[in-house]
Amino acid sequence: MTHASSPSSLHDIVSCMSDYDPHALPVTKAQDIIAQFITPIQAIEKLVIRQALGRVLATDIVSGIDVPAHDNSAMDGYALNGSDLPATGVRDFRIIGTAFAGRAYHGDVGAGECVRIMTGAVMPASCDTVIPQEFTVNASDDQVGIPAGKVRTGDNRRLKGEDLANGKTALQRGKILRPADLGLLASLGVAEVPVQRRLRVAFFSTGDELRSLGEPLDEGCVYDSNRYTLYGMLSRLGCDMIDMGVIKDDPAELEAAFRSACENADAIITSGGVSVGAADYTKQIMGKLGDVAFWTIGMRPGRPMAFGKIHSQGKSAYLFGLPGNPVAVMVTFYFFARQALLHMMGADAAPLPLIPVISKTAIRKRPGRTEYQRGILTTNASGELEVSVTGSQGSGILRSMSEANCMIVLQHDQDQVSAGDKVTVLLFDGML
Ligand code: AMP
Ligand code: MG
Repeated sequence: MTHASSPSSLHDIVSCMSDYDPHALPVTKAQDIIAQFITPIQAIEKLVIRQALGRVLATDIVSGIDVPAHDNSAMDGYALNGSDLPATGVRDFRIIGTAFAGRAYHGDVGAGECVRIMTGAVMPASCDTVIPQEFTVNASDDQVGIPAGKVRTGDNRRLKGEDLANGKTALQRGKILRPADLGLLASLGVAEVPVQRRLRVAFFSTGDELRSLGEPLDEGCVYDSNRYTLYGMLSRLGCDMIDMGVIKDDPAELEAAFRSACENADAIITSGGVSVGAADYTKQIMGKLGDVAFWTIGMRPGRPMAFGKIHSQGKSAYLFGLPGNPVAVMVTFYFFARQALLHMMGADAAPLPLIPVISKTAIRKRPGRTEYQRGILTTNASGELEVSVTGSQGSGILRSMSEANCMIVLQHDQDQVSAGDKVTVLLFDGML
């Protein structure tokens, strides 16, 4: 796909950095380089709001009306003028009418008078206060007793425009639309919104030992699981996907695959073949087709990674060459590719919050690399959050990811963790 040209080459970006070492790159530096190199796509489509769920809003949405359009009641009760409220005891009010939601009461309300009112009904003129039904005494059809001290002037009245005022920005461009946003758009009477087109991401696995589902598992072979975790992670981000299968360690096949991916997608994600010892052609072809850096990142799991941009037939695509190990592929996706893909989509996505919690156990760690351990977060008897690791943490043990509900992020400079120490975690699931 064609993109607005990047501000600079990878070489330009890293040459501005002090102590850039591709063989010992801290996580935050790699994230910085990626962020500087990526540019968002520029294409917009209009969708009815239901279909826009999970999509990136392409323009600001300005409210054309006041929501709510009138002052209205927040409770079922009686509307009156606050200056009429008794200072002590109970005062009897004459009920002169009823205001329903969608059917207003239009008459005047004088001293000692009130209007029975339902939640959402327009406040009668000259009324500024609602006393909830349950606070009143001796109500009959035409009279109700209102005790002192239950409400103050202005209580239980929703103000015109308090949710959204006419002319105010209701939603900002770059927002990923969630259920509340669909409701908010509907409350403004907006039926269609402009969103960024979906990002197209091509992905494939590399390695002669990989077998696809349905194939017999020959000696020394493993099923290709990375394409399935990648499928899941890319689906959750709302990408259009091109699954290119398993590509053998063969220079011609690899070059054809990279070229086709480049010509049809905005970004390419591969797994395998980028480690230092790899005796394959993946790195060679990546380097041949574009501006690609090969990194050893100060992290565990997931040390090796390739990043850059490749070109074919006048098209270009960003490339994330992730490591092959099944946990490493997920960790590098979440901590490098995810933010970059969101940026490409035009999304204004804040980094995910790191939550400080107590570690139930000691964790071995040495300073000089960021470690991502798979954790299970629970609440203890005193209501505090605490985390434990999910057994064996090998980078090939995908079960550790499946069992976890959070990632324990041990920062670059952090040393050993003792039981009871604070560590930070990132939750896998949120509410929306
Ligand atoms: P590599 O990064 O190619 O050296 O691969 C590292 C390890 O990950 C090896 O044990 C591979 O067999 C394994 N691996 C690579 N790709 C995949 C994949 N797509 N699915 C499952 N395991 C993989
Ligand atoms: Mg390999």
